Formats: sequence, C-alpha cells, structure tokens
Amino acid sequence: ERHESIAVQACIHYALRLFHSRLRDERIEVIERLPNEPLWAIGDLVRLEQVLVNLIGNALAAMKERPAPTLTLSAARDAGGVVIHVQDTGPGIVEEHLTRIFEPFFTTKAPGKGLGLGLSISSRIMDDLGGTLTATNAPEGGARFTLTLPAAVPPG
Ligand code: ADP
Ligand code: MG
Repeated sequence: ERHESIAVQACIHYALRLFHSRLRDERIEVIERLPNEPLWAIGDLVRLEQVLVNLIGNALAAMKERPAPTLTLSAARDAGGVVIHVQDTGPGIVEEHLTRIFEPFFTTKAPGKGLGLGLSISSRIMDDLGGTLTATNAPEGGARFTLTLPAAVPPG
C-alpha cells in the first residue's frame, strides 16, 4: 500500500465520474455534502476510489426501480480523522445481514449478478489503510455506509 495525503473530495469526484452516464440515464439525484476546503486523509487514492466505486455500484443496484433515487455523499473532519458517508434511498439492509454483508461471497443478488466480494474487499482495503468500513440503515430508510480514515496534515 502507498500511504499518501489524499484530498477526499477529489477522490469522491473521481469515483462519481465513472458513473456519470448511469447517474444520468437512471435519473439518480446526487447530493454532495462536502466542505469547500480540501479534506486531507492519509490513504491511497486508487484504493479509496475502488472502495467508493464498490459502494456507489451497490447503492445504484439497490435503487433500481425505486422512486426518486437519491445518492448522498458526505465527508467531514471529526475527532478521530476523516469520515465519509455513502447513503442511498434503496430498501436498506435486513438487520440480520448487517454484519454478514462483509463476509466473502455473501450476496443477496441473483446468480451471475453479484459475487458477494465487493464489501469484503472494501472492508479489507479500509483496514489496510488504517481506517474502517461499517454499515447501518438510515433512519429515513436506505443503506448508509461509513468510512473512516486517519486525517493528514495538509501537504505543502
Ligand atoms: P454483491 O454486490 O456482489 O452482492 P457486495 O459484497 O458488494 O456483493 O454486497 C453484499 C450484499 O450486501 C449485497 O448482495 C446486498 O445484499 C447487500 N448490500 C450491499 N450494499 C447495499 C445497499 N446499498 N443497499 C442494500 N443492500 C446492500
Ligand atoms: Mg457489490
């Protein structure tokens, strides 16, 4: 792993850009709650982007055929470091599945639609970066994934 200072907003935008045409075609509203000043974390830009792509892909899959699909991405500095949230307006995650979703090969998708590896790999990546990945259901419904990373001193 490379451990470099990464600007979290830039990483979120790289990940979102990969979904540009899907977000448009599926009429997903994207809400960004990001500070104006760059938020610096210690991590690896490509690996964090990979995690965000996994989470956004899952969110879009969960919102298929749902009215007013909305993807909310937020990031903030907190006492422990940097916190990123990826939240959707899908059906959320069944309570009994909340811990199992991080197990390799756990999937509720139809055969051929998902291998069940995205979250186990993502959780492993966040671990390797000295961070965490957890899942909850938002009070208003939908799944909410929380990522943490150590904060970095701004470079330069
Ligand atoms: P896969 O996407 O191949 O199923 P993942 O590891 O990415 O594998 O996800 C595992 C399971 O976690 C999914 O099959 C689904 O049941 C659940 N899950 C993940 N993200 C969401 C989400 N945003 N909303 C609802 N369920 C989710
Ligand atoms: Mg997945």
